[in-house]
Amino acid sequence: MSRADHSSSLKTLRTVEELRAALVPDRRAEFTIGLVPTMGALHEGHLSLIERAREQCDRVVVSLFVNPAQFNEGSDLERYPRREERDARLAAQAGADLLFAPSVEEVYPAGFATSVEVLGISERLEGASRGAAHFRGVCTVVTKLLCMCQPNAAYFGQKDAQQVVVIRRLVRDLNLPVLIEVCPTVREPDGLAMSSRNALLGPPEREQALALYGALRSIEDYAARGERRATRLLEAGHQRLAARGVHPEYLELVDPDTLERLEWLDRRALLAVAANVGATRLIDNLFLEPISSPKPEAGVVTDPIESQVNPNLAIPTSPATPSKETATCSA
Ligand code: AMP
Repeated sequence: MSRADHSSSLKTLRTVEELRAALVPDRRAEFTIGLVPTMGALHEGHLSLIERAREQCDRVVVSLFVNPAQFNEGSDLERYPRREERDARLAAQAGADLLFAPSVEEVYPAGFATSVEVLGISERLEGASRGAAHFRGVCTVVTKLLCMCQPNAAYFGQKDAQQVVVIRRLVRDLNLPVLIEVCPTVREPDGLAMSSRNALLGPPEREQALALYGALRSIEDYAARGERRATRLLEAGHQRLAARGVHPEYLELVDPDTLERLEWLDRRALLAVAANVGATRLIDNLFLEPISSPKPEAGVVTDPIESQVNPNLAIPTSPATPSKETATCSA
């Protein structure tokens, strides 16, 4: 992949004052500003967001902040990979102009007492697993970053599907004048969704982690053969995970907007999974489309549970190079 190198011109800023001052001339010139919020340890998933921002905006700001408020376990926060020098180089190569890397004290100064919470949708999936503090932390920091930078557009990945739903709601509810752009999940050649946490996986865990995408794909295959009952679809996924010794925190078929559980795949649905692989927590998701056949009678569809998939088989049609799913980047 060839990228224009902006590394010589990338500036790293530590304070809100510096960030605002750096953007003054851009605002005067009526340049469009794109913000890509990250927690660092950048990989191709993050870079795809930066590249999209580069295509669409005159100025690209990447924020790098490991937000303690969204970690429910201290050990997870401590283990989170931090690689600022490398991140600055990669962000610049992908087209970033400014790296905003504030300290915890800059974001949460003494006496900080405000939080932003999106009720309902935050309580499902990740919220149910990680507790209400997780999305409160995400929403508070995203609101703050949007206020600090005041971008025209902010870029997020479909990899964190619930985060996208919650942030869209937050932006609508608070009338924030920013366009939310969502980019498809970028995967490793074998299908594993790229994540900063993948760096924490040892070789056997890396192999085991493939079960998440394997389970999503086996459910997708089953649905493509006409199964529409959520219990049957999810059972097939659970079997696939269990065959690799993975016990999910959740594996759910939900409405993509409300995140409420679906009993039938009778409309577009979000299929989402979270699991600990060793000490590393991973998430993944896919959109499922129903096929247009009527609801099947019990036993009509070939059941992958009885003809159990060999867990060691390669995932069908896994991409050969880091791949982006066909979800559109849209507001
Ligand atoms: P993080 O640093 O994990 O907070 O992620 C920062 C942004 O990158 C979020 O909007 C994520 O959804 C997005 N992101 C993380 N992994 C991927 C991926 N594999 N593909 C696309 N976007 C991603």
